[in-house]
Amino acid sequence: MSQLSILFVTSEMAPWVKTGGLGDVSAALPAALHKAGHDVRVLIPNYPALQAAFPQARLAAQLPALAPGLPPARLLSAETDGLPLLLLDCPELYGHAGNPYLDDHGHDRQDNPIRFGLLSRIAALLGQAHSPIDWQANVVHVNDWQSAMAPVYLHFEGGSASVITVHNIAFMGCFGHEYLASLGLPQHAWRFDGVEFHGQLSFLKAGLQFATRISTVSPTYAREIQDEHFGYGLAPLMRHRESALRGILNGIDTEIWNPSTDPELVSHYAANRLAAKRKNKSALQEEMGLEVADDVTLFGVISRLTHQKGLDLLLTIQDGMAALPMQLAVLGSGERDLEAGFSALAKRYPGKIAVKLGFDEALAHRIEAGADCFLMPSRFEPCGLNQMYSLRYGTPPIVRATGGLADTVVDVSEETLANMTANGFVLRDDTPHAMWLAMERVCRSRPDKRQWLRIQQNGMRRDFSWKQAAHDYISLYRDAISARELER
Ligand code: ADP
Repeated sequence: MSQLSILFVTSEMAPWVKTGGLGDVSAALPAALHKAGHDVRVLIPNYPALQAAFPQARLAAQLPALAPGLPPARLLSAETDGLPLLLLDCPELYGHAGNPYLDDHGHDRQDNPIRFGLLSRIAALLGQAHSPIDWQANVVHVNDWQSAMAPVYLHFEGGSASVITVHNIAFMGCFGHEYLASLGLPQHAWRFDGVEFHGQLSFLKAGLQFATRISTVSPTYAREIQDEHFGYGLAPLMRHRESALRGILNGIDTEIWNPSTDPELVSHYAANRLAAKRKNKSALQEEMGLEVADDVTLFGVISRLTHQKGLDLLLTIQDGMAALPMQLAVLGSGERDLEAGFSALAKRYPGKIAVKLGFDEALAHRIEAGADCFLMPSRFEPCGLNQMYSLRYGTPPIVRATGGLADTVVDVSEETLANMTANGFVLRDDTPHAMWLAMERVCRSRPDKRQWLRIQQNGMRRDFSWKQAAHDYISLYRDAISARELER
């Protein structure tokens, strides 16, 4: 199999800059592609966190101003664990510390169309014959709206194949018509089947229109975004491009999320040593101020507290929950009314319900290990990581049947118990009552120790590593490269 030259373009990369799943994917997927023997390079803005991490980065190219609104910049090269990084250096655009998209007041940065227009323009350049470095990509892989204009440049100016991955279709990067000229795009690109979207320039829509291939982060989400309910106005375009669209489930970092080595846990365990999980439950109960008891079912939540995550359901079934032999440990932060609702819930049921507001990576590990069951009733979930962590930690999840949740969680039934796939609980419908019923079902199921063990083990034995995803992306790249050749 021939080696591919892949440019992976991203606006965030863990551990240096992360606001969500894209940061994790950008750390894991290029590393897995590199490990599989491909020549992959990551292009990312040289934010202060990257400047600090790579003070020895070398100058790879001086980049002239490529469009009326785009400033000159520099390309620096560095390396992390053997993986080459290309840092797009332009202090006037990327020199602010903190959130990569927002200013100090939490508003979108005014110059975002220029900041991410430049990222896209340089990404395209690295896939074109006049690449400024001694290397040209066969395929430029962009992610979300922030790099989505690269396929547009490659379409209008020529160059390599492109792939765009949608991590969340709700963020579209919409800006005024005037940016067409400042980004150096031709006026004839302003069409409904071009870059225009309801009178604006939408980076995401433009990328989805012109990328050679499209992927999203789970097979079910790939189907859902063709539906008006999930597609945020892009459903017709997604249906139009269905033959170019794939769903590839994200992997997880199976070293960081490993219950047999996790340094945050008081007791390590594995699928064949599950009795040792129990100590993590009592430690978590103690840490969170819950009554220490094993016979109650401890439900865990780790989440952004937003409408998407569906946790408002829990606030509507307070009395019903309180009547169950259960406890609840919540870690989250987000919308003010949800934070207030959960704080009040914990006050109402001390010892039974505990809530910690904030972001706490270490506690997240202890909840995954200490809880009996994980709650993730998201209204939509492109892929979702926490349900995979909980499956791996022997903590069967309750989920809605949407996106990546539907692709990873198999509801317990006679049939799925018999064929050893049952690993969690799927809400039967979208109501608070269904949520309560699922929690009640878990409380009833857990005392059947043999059956519960089987459900835990089925989840723990599934392979969630990046290896499979990397393999699927490589075939998508090859497909994109062949399709691009046919276009020429
Ligand atoms: P999303 O990316 O939509 O927020 P995911 O489940 O895909 O949801 O990923 C969320 C990631 O953020 C997981 O790694 C999860 O553990 C972490 N996380 C979310 N909220 C918190 C929190 N309050 N404290 C610690 N980790 C959190």
